[in-house]
Amino acid sequence: MKITVDKMKCTGCLLCEITCSVHNTDMVQREASAIQVTLHDLGDSIHEPVVCRQCTKMLCLKSEGKKYDKEEAEKFYWDNKERISQCPFHALFVFNGKVIHCNLCGGDPECVKSCPTRAIAIEKGEEESLAEESHDLHNGKFDKEIEIG
Ligand code: SF4
Ligand code: SF4
Ligand code: SF4
Repeated sequence: MKITVDKMKCTGCLLCEITCSVHNTDMVQREASAIQVTLHDLGDSIHEPVVCRQCTKMLCLKSEGKKYDKEEAEKFYWDNKERISQCPFHALFVFNGKVIHCNLCGGDPECVKSCPTRAIAIEKGEEESLAEESHDLHNGKFDKEIEIG
């Protein structure tokens, strides 16, 4: 799963940032959010939400000799600041001396639910979609059995 961004739909309302901050740190503070919106108020008014792309190669871990690391991917706080400069998408931020990383809220991204224009959305991986289809199928079958019985 990852969060996709359609910057043409972003109004710059910052609800996503506030939601992430409250949900993950109990604070209302833009800097304490793992999604940060670059505002372009004086230019074309196209605002750009920036958030971890959940890359399968995790280039941010390169200097540590690691590739994808599930345990790290699931953390909101990281200690190693070297990772910031290694992310090609500039999707890591610092707050109170810690690196802030989007951990997808453990699988239920709160920021996506807060966005009024759907400028950010959830994109599921192939395996997750297949698992859901299988679940739906199972539920449909179950309902039918209830009706017949
Ligand atoms: S922090 Fe950057 S390099 Fe690391 S997984 Fe996220 S987008 Fe990829
Ligand atoms: S998914 Fe959760 S951790 Fe990631 S940016 Fe959104 S609110 Fe923050
Ligand atoms: S909540 Fe949606 S519209 Fe508002 S700043 Fe975030 S991405 Fe943009």
